[in-house]
Amino acid sequence: MDYLIKIENRKRKLNKKRITILIVVILIIFFLILYFVIRNNFKKEIATEKNNETQISNILEENIIEEQNEVIKKYNFEMLNVEEFERFDNIYKTSDPKRIFLTFDDGPTMQVTPYILDLLKNEDIKATFFVLGNRVDANPELVKREYEEGHFIANHGYSHKYSAIYASTDAVIDEYSKTNQSIRDAIGNQEYNSLAFRFPGGSVGGYYDSLKKATKQILREKGIVSIDWNALIGDSEGLKTKEKLLSRFYETMKNQSSVVLLMHDAADKILTYETLPEIISYCRENGYEFKSLYDVILRES
Ligand SMILES: [Zn+2]
Repeated sequence: MDYLIKIENRKRKLNKKRITILIVVILIIFFLILYFVIRNNFKKEIATEKNNETQISNILEENIIEEQNEVIKKYNFEMLNVEEFERFDNIYKTSDPKRIFLTFDDGPTMQVTPYILDLLKNEDIKATFFVLGNRVDANPELVKREYEEGHFIANHGYSHKYSAIYASTDAVIDEYSKTNQSIRDAIGNQEYNSLAFRFPGGSVGGYYDSLKKATKQILREKGIVSIDWNALIGDSEGLKTKEKLLSRFYETMKNQSSVVLLMHDAADKILTYETLPEIISYCRENGYEFKSLYDVILRES
């Protein structure tokens, strides 16, 4: 009998042990399942977040591309139309409100152009750069910066050597095309056309006057406008102080209401950059709006 009770007790103990082990196993399984469920959900959350992030960055990218296309759109005309030529013909005539086109020739150069670009950016002003092809090839990243910051890239020929560019009408057209290609390569837009050309030394007068006149006509037939200036700061006249540049500016600007201002961003023109803040505040104080050639070529493509 005693023996039987002992067996019975042992069985009970064994059962208890089994039940405890079972409970522990069930609990472990339960916690494992719980762990995996939570982990999975967490992963899903991260995935959705990442997905959202990718979507957001895609949207941002699309916006940037769209904005760039907006800019590029304006450049993709093969030639100017009659209406735009008329606007260019009237560029020096009266304007209400008053307007000024800041134009910079002979660049871009590392010595001057980046400072001018920083200043224009701070002042939120769009200008026009009449670039030289050989400078574009030397500093393509600066032309790209000008382009991307919304300035108009116009054409000043390739060499700036009168004996080369004014050798014949074909030579001028060749320099225009060569510079146009350099700009295309620099900004990464093979559809780009600069459309506005400034003759080195201006389009009238001097030894090459009749050749310039003939070339102007050929350019016009190709849909390219030649543009000079009606005010300057004398930064290519050997003036050595800010005050002298400013008085040349006031003197040539007079009371014109539509001003195309000639300046230079060649390597030795740091004084032009230093004078620019005063030119800008004078214009602001006197009610001039800053324009670039984009404002003359308004056509939608
Ligand atoms: Zn020049």
